[in-house]
Amino acid sequence: MADKKNIWVLVEYHGSNPTEASLELLSKGRILAENLGCEVWVLAPEANADMIKTIAADKIWHSQNKQELLGVDMGKNISILMAKAKPALVLCTMSPQSVEAAAFVSAKCQTIYLPNVSGINVKNNKLHIQKLIYEGMAQAVTEAELDDTLILGCIHGVWGIKSKEMLPETKLISETVLDERSQIVNSYVADWQEIEVNEADVVVAGGNGMYDHEGFRKLLPIAAQLAAPVGGSRVAEDKGWIDHKAMIGATGQTIAPELYIACGISGAIQHTIGIQDSKRIIAINTDSMAAIMANADLRVVGDAGKILDELSLLLKDYAPVKEA
Ligand SMILES: Cc1cc2nc3c(=O)[nH]c(=O)nc-3n(C[C@H](O)[C@H](O)[C@H](O)COP(=O)(O)OP(=O)(O)OC[C@H]3O[C@@H](n4cnc5c(N)ncnc54)[C@H](O)[C@@H]3O)c2cc1C
Repeated sequence: MADKKNIWVLVEYHGSNPTEASLELLSKGRILAENLGCEVWVLAPEANADMIKTIAADKIWHSQNKQELLGVDMGKNISILMAKAKPALVLCTMSPQSVEAAAFVSAKCQTIYLPNVSGINVKNNKLHIQKLIYEGMAQAVTEAELDDTLILGCIHGVWGIKSKEMLPETKLISETVLDERSQIVNSYVADWQEIEVNEADVVVAGGNGMYDHEGFRKLLPIAAQLAAPVGGSRVAEDKGWIDHKAMIGATGQTIAPELYIACGISGAIQHTIGIQDSKRIIAINTDSMAAIMANADLRVVGDAGKILDELSLLLKDYAPVKEA
């Protein structure tokens, strides 16, 4: 590999901290860089002192105007940077924003984008990339030369996060500013009903255990009281209770809320893969042994419909008192 080809990691935030998925990519990038004798460069919407302390990178490119630059805006910035330097690999998560950015760069720079990557290894100076296919039912291995740039959309939870101390030493050599032509010209506070499940602080979701359309509607009062969008499992989508964009899991949305309330959801791996970045999980299920219980911080055993009715009453009592 030519010296100038490095590994770029596209970092995303949850609040003001890099997401766990991004930290995992940084760890993996660091290890690959050690094998390939190159550096890890980070591309971030913004970089603050705390973030720089957290990450293991040799160089950070970020926006100076401290506005979030994600999706197509980030894609445009990466394309501009790629005209100046060619990375060996661009590692990004499978979040909707990163997929959008990666797809833009792939089209703009005629670069190969491989999504759903579950393994990256270097063998005989070639890359061996494992990729989930057929909706996660099978795995394919692609061999790639190191000469071309590859953008890899990586599945979260495969490699884990290594602490900075366990990774090869890095020296932050410089900070460079991304293109500043992208500017947010207008912003507004969205009504909670417009918030997508992958953007919300609280998500209320239901599954097959809500029985029917009427049962599923028991989620709505709680959702309104918590200003949370309603999501669901694949079964909830199949039964027509939710749209595809509200379906959570490997083949739906990946969410990272402060609180996820799962009602009548068994916790199949295809579902839990999409909720593992949730800070707190409450599971309501009649089966105390349901797989979702292993992921839950608070396990409530009982009929979800009845518990939601009770909870709705309690939330009414505890509704914040309006100032006079
Ligand atoms: C390739 C592939 C991709 C998939 N992708 C996804 C995906 O992205 N997202 C996803 O969600 N699934 C996905 N699935 C489907 C997944 O395997 C499960 O079938 C699905 O998640 C189950 O949905 P569920 O938990 O709502 O239903 P069930 O598995 O039927 O679980 C219902 C739960 O409700 C509980 N229950 C029953 N009655 C009550 C009650 N009165 N009160 C409270 N609890 C009750 C039960 O104990 C049970 O735990 C995928 C499957 C495949 C093969």
